[in-house]
Amino acid sequence: MAYNIAVIGGDGIGPEVVDAAITVLDKLPVEFNYTYAEAGDECAEKTGVPLPDETIEIAKNADAVLFGAAGETAAAVIVRLRQELETFVNLRPVKSLQPEKYGNIDFMIVRENTEDLYIGEEEVTEDGAVAYKRITKNASEKIADYAFKYAQDTNRSKVTAVHKANVLKVTDGLFKDSFYKVAENYPEIETNDFYVDATAMYLITNPLDFEVIVTTNLYGDILSDEGAGLVGGLGMIPSANIGDENGLFEPVHGSAPDIAGQGIADPAATILSACMMLDYLGESEHARHIEEVLINVIQEGVHVTLDLGGEYSTKQMAEYIAEQL
Ligand code: ATP
Repeated sequence: MAYNIAVIGGDGIGPEVVDAAITVLDKLPVEFNYTYAEAGDECAEKTGVPLPDETIEIAKNADAVLFGAAGETAAAVIVRLRQELETFVNLRPVKSLQPEKYGNIDFMIVRENTEDLYIGEEEVTEDGAVAYKRITKNASEKIADYAFKYAQDTNRSKVTAVHKANVLKVTDGLFKDSFYKVAENYPEIETNDFYVDATAMYLITNPLDFEVIVTTNLYGDILSDEGAGLVGGLGMIPSANIGDENGLFEPVHGSAPDIAGQGIADPAATILSACMMLDYLGESEHARHIEEVLINVIQEGVHVTLDLGGEYSTKQMAEYIAEQL
């Protein structure tokens, strides 16, 4: 069976890290047909639009989408793609691949992906500007249910809801209430909830207390970068956007214009995103194999990029991992 993969490299280091992931995928005894599509700042300069209709079509028709990064046009590209593909969940695993350095941190952020402030609905008013924070019962219950099912499937015993319901009583209050309503269907799973500001601290003081975090769109975005900081940086955190019909897989980091074009970007986050894509496609054995090799390579610390203590380029690191498979 061959899988049709839409590949959107995008801007900055996006195309570099996506190429690296494809180098690794191509070593598997699995057939992939890649369809390359454009999006991002460069695409906007060239075509006048950051996300052409053709790219949306290619993404919708693929079995999965592998995405790199978008720069200044990120809101018009990745936020829109998530909406077009109706990927209601954004999974962001925060896992230490170097336990001797960062401890045994291992939790999953289950981020609601379709509403809240992050969708960027803003408006200029007479005296300033307004951003809409829309929270619905349906999306809140759906994401809570996903988090509990995820906990069940992965043998995790606790789900933590993160919100700011003491101040945003109506919107975040609804999110919190939805969480506890859904929790009734999962009596075997422990629950608790924290305010987002407290969570920002607990992630640093007690990171091992977290197993699954379920939260709204904006808090999920911020906490996952904090999570990256706990386990070695943005080069290490993959993500999966999943809906009923589509899956889009991308590193948590952005286009990193400061290091773009130098061939030094850490490809780990994108290779791990490709592993999440393999899981989604039902090829979990291959996903675990790549992860195992990648972790060994990172722990060995030689055939790796600068941020991981080595001197390898993005391409060299990917080729080395591919050889080890
Ligand atoms: P964008 O606006 O596209 O999000 P950014 O620079 O604001 O770009 P990131 O791309 O997430 O945000 O990068 C933040 C920092 O992390 C930068 O200093 C960048 O060099 C570093 N970084 C991000 N990804 C990687 C990577 N794969 N390897 C090494 N460093 C990275």
